[in-house]
Amino acid sequence: MTSRDSGKGWRFSGNELQYVREVLESGFASATTGSMNQRFEKAFAERFGVAYAITSNSGTSTLHQALAAFGVGHGDEVIVPALSPVMCGYAVLHAGATPVFADVDAETFLLDPANVSAEITPRTKAIMAVHLYGLPCNMEAIMRIADEHNLCVLEDCAQCFLGKDDQGRLGGTIGHAGSWSFENSKHMSTGDGGIVATNDEVIAGRMRKFGGIGFKNIRASSGQVRRSKDVFQDPKYLRHDSFGWNYRLPEVAAAVGLAQLERLDDFVSRRQCMAARYLDAIGDCEWLKPQKVPPGYVNSYYTFAVRYDGEQARGVSWYDFRKTHMEHGGDGIYSAWSLIYNEPSMRMLNDEGKYFQDLPARGDSYKGFLDRVDCPVAETLQPTLLQFTTNQVTEEQMNVQCAALQRAISDLGK
Ligand SMILES: *Cc1c(COP(=O)(O)O)cnc(C)c1O
Repeated sequence: MTSRDSGKGWRFSGNELQYVREVLESGFASATTGSMNQRFEKAFAERFGVAYAITSNSGTSTLHQALAAFGVGHGDEVIVPALSPVMCGYAVLHAGATPVFADVDAETFLLDPANVSAEITPRTKAIMAVHLYGLPCNMEAIMRIADEHNLCVLEDCAQCFLGKDDQGRLGGTIGHAGSWSFENSKHMSTGDGGIVATNDEVIAGRMRKFGGIGFKNIRASSGQVRRSKDVFQDPKYLRHDSFGWNYRLPEVAAAVGLAQLERLDDFVSRRQCMAARYLDAIGDCEWLKPQKVPPGYVNSYYTFAVRYDGEQARGVSWYDFRKTHMEHGGDGIYSAWSLIYNEPSMRMLNDEGKYFQDLPARGDSYKGFLDRVDCPVAETLQPTLLQFTTNQVTEEQMNVQCAALQRAISDLGK
């Protein structure tokens, strides 16, 4: 095996170094003066068929930018799936609003449109549709609900690159905005980073300004801050015409992103290939229930997620099954994150109105905000989930994982 095939550097063995070198040779441009962010944004928008793409320093930042651009703020509610990484809840808090947790579907593990409807109140402003594990939510139903109630929809595609719904639409291009993360574990990575896309010029302009410290010259289509050095260096010149955060992506990271994007189809199809092999290995096993992909949908398989029913069916705990799989050479299987509202940080905010243990409470606005939570499906599903890795590179590595799973299954008996 050569390092290009399977070594740690494999993921970054395309044009990454060349583009990074271009940034350094330009004198290490910033996000506001260089061109790499613009190149990356343009290429991403073209690949996904959207009008505007705006780079950011993380997927959490993009979620915050999008919610703020929707006008979400204090007193508003945003519907978020209970089963998702905590950042989805945090982004709503960052926007000053209240996350309202909706239950998920027992088979697709995704936001259930019926439960979204059930959580709508006069304060609801937006829905965060998380395309968990790489599979798009039922966007047709979610958009219908949103239209009925005049809500904005944010698609969190941190785990979903090139996933499609049954109409062939790419996840992230259906709602009012779509957001991706380039954190290290995702399909493509810039170390840390993110991008947010929309076809709406007003929302694009706001997202960019919020993430770009509100510089006056920022436009929906450009993060360039300086128009002319002479104008900029005038003591009377006023730079900022709106509020914002600094969520800019460094040029070096954008250079890596541009090169990663060129190889995205390959990254996705490798993960899909590994998932197909796992599906094959599971076959008709009664106590392993892979994430259901509804007809016509395309799952981009950030991970291969499976509901484990072996505890009831075979009397073998989740932990022991994982151990068996690993003893046969399987990768460490990941568990699902705790439900967002069960994280101690969320409980502390609910119980004491505190963001930090050693800082005073900040008013009562969040006290009791979890009182109405009712997500029985997510509660029973979360502890049973097995998240198999899909980032194998070579045929040989894929074979090892399949063989391990097959042996673990036959140890317990199909
Ligand atoms: C990774 C992830 C995020 C956050 O992205 P960061 O870049 O780590 O901030 C948000 N939502 C989901 C579903 C994720 O998987």
